[in-house]
Amino acid sequence: MDWKGIRVSPCNLCPRECGAKRDEGGRGFCGMDERIYLARAALHMWEEPCISGTQGSGTVFFSGCNLRCVYCQNYEIAAGERGQQVSQERLSEIFLELQGLGAANINLVTPDHYVVQVEIEDIEDKSLQFDVHVL
Ligand code: SF4
Repeated sequence: MDWKGIRVSPCNLCPRECGAKRDEGGRGFCGMDERIYLARAALHMWEEPCISGTQGSGTVFFSGCNLRCVYCQNYEIAAGERGQQVSQERLSEIFLELQGLGAANINLVTPDHYVVQVEIEDIEDKSLQFDVHVL
C-alpha cells in the first residue's frame, strides 16, 4: 500500500522509518505487520470529561506501538501481545457501531502504525456516514 508517498512496505509510516517489509509479514519496531489488530473497541467513560462526554468515547485500542514509553499503562497491548486481527471493512463497521451506541467521538488509541490502513477506501466511504469527530 502506498498513500501519497507514505508506505506500509517498506514502512515509513512513522518517524522511526524502520523500513520493515510489512506486506511480506515483516514486523517493524512497532511490532506489527500490515494487518490491523485491535485489542479493544468500546465506549470508554474514563477519558477526560470533555472527551468521554456523557455517553463515553468510542475508543479503539490498536495493538502495537512505535514508542517505547517506560511508563506505558497499556504495555501488553502496546507490545502487540493482545489483539485480534480485523479487516479494514470490519474496522469501519466497528466505528459505525460505536457511533450507533452513542459515542461522543471515535477515539483512536495509538493508530500511527496503521495510518494508511485506516485511511483507505472502505473506511473513507463509510466515513461519510460519521457525524462524530475522529480523535
Ligand atoms: S510504523 Fe512500525 S514498521 Fe512502520 S516505520 Fe514505524 S515502527 Fe517501523
